[in-house]
Amino acid sequence: MMVKTRCSHLEEKLYADVHHGLCRQCHSNFVFLLELEEKYGEDALIEYWYAKILTYSSSERNEYDVYCLIDHLGFINRI
Ligand SMILES: [Zn+2]
Repeated sequence: MMVKTRCSHLEEKLYADVHHGLCRQCHSNFVFLLELEEKYGEDALIEYWYAKILTYSSSERNEYDVYCLIDHLGFINRI
């Protein structure tokens, strides 16, 4: 069964239930960002972020990912 996740995407309910209510894509991004921040601090996170947005803005194909990741910055701040 597909459900709407906390990140406003669709995912299998079973997957979302055990992954903080996130879809597959957002969860993997989310975990990666948390690890990055843990290892290298907030500055590294922001730098990574900035680079990512610069890279993505030149490619429409990945626009979806950018918005997804931006959503999760907000998500991280709310924890
Ligand atoms: Zn998502």
